[in-house]
Amino acid sequence: MPIIVQKYGGSSVADIEKIKAIAGKLKARREAGYDLVVIVSAMAGTTDALLSLAHQISDAPQKRELDMLLTTGERTTMALLSMALNDLGIPAISFTGSQSGIITNDSHVNARIIEVRPWRVRDELEKGKIVIIAGFQGVSYKREVTTLGRGGSDTTAVAMAAALGAEACEIYSDVDGVFSGDPRVVEQAKKLREIDYEEMQELSECGAKVLNAQAVEFARRAQIPIDALSTFGGGSGTRVMEISGGGDAGGRVAGVAGQRNLAVISLRNGTPVLLASLLQFLADADAAALEAGLSGGTARAVACLDNVHGIEGFRERLALRFGGENISVDTTSLGRVTVVGKDIGREACLVGRASEALAGIGVSASALHMERNRFSFLVERASLDAAVRAVHGALLG
Ligand code: ASP
Ligand code: MG
Repeated sequence: MPIIVQKYGGSSVADIEKIKAIAGKLKARREAGYDLVVIVSAMAGTTDALLSLAHQISDAPQKRELDMLLTTGERTTMALLSMALNDLGIPAISFTGSQSGIITNDSHVNARIIEVRPWRVRDELEKGKIVIIAGFQGVSYKREVTTLGRGGSDTTAVAMAAALGAEACEIYSDVDGVFSGDPRVVEQAKKLREIDYEEMQELSECGAKVLNAQAVEFARRAQIPIDALSTFGGGSGTRVMEISGGGDAGGRVAGVAGQRNLAVISLRNGTPVLLASLLQFLADADAAALEAGLSGGTARAVACLDNVHGIEGFRERLALRFGGENISVDTTSLGRVTVVGKDIGREACLVGRASEALAGIGVSASALHMERNRFSFLVERASLDAAVRAVHGALLG
């Protein structure tokens, strides 16, 4: 039977009723003649609650212990969903990341998948079972439990789909696919029927939460299309795939994303060597650098803090490493609005219209950064949502 890999996000498995409802959906899909492998996230809020427990114990929890703690969230969901299926008379079995053969590098809290050995998953499918897998986790080649970074269950799903040669990889959440802006922020946001891998990856890296950036990168490399779908809302969703020319957006703007959880770091007396060591520092701290540059003697980097668990420790280590007097670190007051689309990043007229829209609502951008497939503005975090709406309005209506 053809294999379908599905992934359900935290809001889709937020309570027992929802978990039971998903079991009912899986039963119907199974009876339609598919082998099913189902990746689950932790129940909504669980990962944040576990992180908060860790921070009530320590300002600087060990990354290894964080991984031991955080992986329990997904394990709870996998067991509950498997029980719900078995109760409906559908044989199912749950596996941790380690049991399902997700092998990662040894970097705790933000590990990368290096190999998938899905033998046990295949065995259970052959016995006629639905296999439920805890997302967001794996085991390192040193046999340590690891996690894949925030939003990492999507990556589990894509990697499993690739390893199993699945017919489809369906990622379910509480929104009906990918929109031109976060529909919770931009009322006028339009749903995209399809979007190119490259554009989707840029949107995810720049703050769109609907899909994880690493998962999209993985899908692009393996040429696996992702279907982003709504769990309970019906709708046709969005297909993420290779599109020459830019898909729905037709080579124009695909979407606008806002990002708040970031750090802007400036170093005085910057040199290329110093900038490189700042980037190395950020990589070691799991703070993915989104932009970096050197000008007028100042080195500057913008980094995403989603996987930095302990901002105070991060700031202290930065000051220690580069000298408190030379460095300024802003983790609280700035946000970034980014416009994404194939080859649009240096189109003066688009940049001009976006800038005017910001000026029109009294938002002053402290930096503008242009790349091939995107341009972005740093703005006051308090006006980020308004900035996203204004830029979306000016470029996408
Ligand atoms: N539960 C993890 C998180 O909240 C992973 C995921 O949901 O994909 O980031
Ligand atoms: Mg997610």
